[in-house]
Amino acid sequence: MADGRFAPSPTGRLHLGNLRTALLAWLFARSSGGRFLVRMEDLDAGSVRAEHYDGQLDDLRALGLDWDGAVVRQSERRSRYDRAIARLVDLDLTYPCYCTRREIQEAASAAHGDPMPDGAYPGTCRALTASERVAREAAGRRPALRLRAEPGLVVSFVDRLHGRVSAVVDDVVLRRGDGTPAYNLAVVVDDAAQGVAEVVRGDDLLLSTPRHVHVASLLGLTVPSYAHVPLVLGVDGARLAKRHGAVTLGDRAARGETPDDVRSLLACSVGLASPGERVSMSTLLARFDPAALPRDPWVFPEIG
Ligand code: GLU
Repeated sequence: MADGRFAPSPTGRLHLGNLRTALLAWLFARSSGGRFLVRMEDLDAGSVRAEHYDGQLDDLRALGLDWDGAVVRQSERRSRYDRAIARLVDLDLTYPCYCTRREIQEAASAAHGDPMPDGAYPGTCRALTASERVAREAAGRRPALRLRAEPGLVVSFVDRLHGRVSAVVDDVVLRRGDGTPAYNLAVVVDDAAQGVAEVVRGDDLLLSTPRHVHVASLLGLTVPSYAHVPLVLGVDGARLAKRHGAVTLGDRAARGETPDDVRSLLACSVGLASPGERVSMSTLLARFDPAALPRDPWVFPEIG
């Protein structure tokens, strides 16, 4: 039995890629007899829209998903993240970082042997002297707080679909310059606090997971198991987005398709239904076999 979760950010209605990941996360959890939890990752106040909390839950319900307990909002759990950060500060594992995103991109070196996660940090501010820090503060920069990882640290984990995965763990941001706890910290704290035993999510996060394993270990938290599922891409090869056409349940409804039609489409894309076949959630549950899931992305066939 492995409790699972789906953790969307309420920044828009769910699209077929989000819905497919949610459906798979539900199937993994329910087929093991575990609970299925929903968590709103809404720490980024600038991009969250109030109407999308309920809108996204409506999307999940319409597809046939149910969940256990109250939906958790990260914005209401700041004190947990602050406590976790304080613990890492006490362990002397953090330092302030004044870099802008642009400076990080410019400094990041591609010449590295091990796979690097997205946005990997080259360590520019790790060894700043006190006077260099003062100069940056005086210039009005508000520092992020980073975790100090050993240079070149490589962490491995075993993924249900990808097998053993190893990646460099860089100095991840724990708290952003505006004071907001960072995703890479909050996700670890919450998965442990909520008792999530298996994290099922898109495989764009595959190389970030060693960071999460590392942060969890430093905090003395139980490390969950992981299954990273393939993404849905547009025909241009980019991660599915609004611009790829009719991608939300609302868009599909405008074309005369019901949520049941969308469930069939998604089920077909993961090999659990034949094209056009109507399938209930209980049928999907009965057919579900993690080992038979596709490993490659699903290219969403239409534009416009
Ligand atoms: N909030 C993240 C997203 O929407 C989810 C990441 C995760 O599942 O860990 O991409």
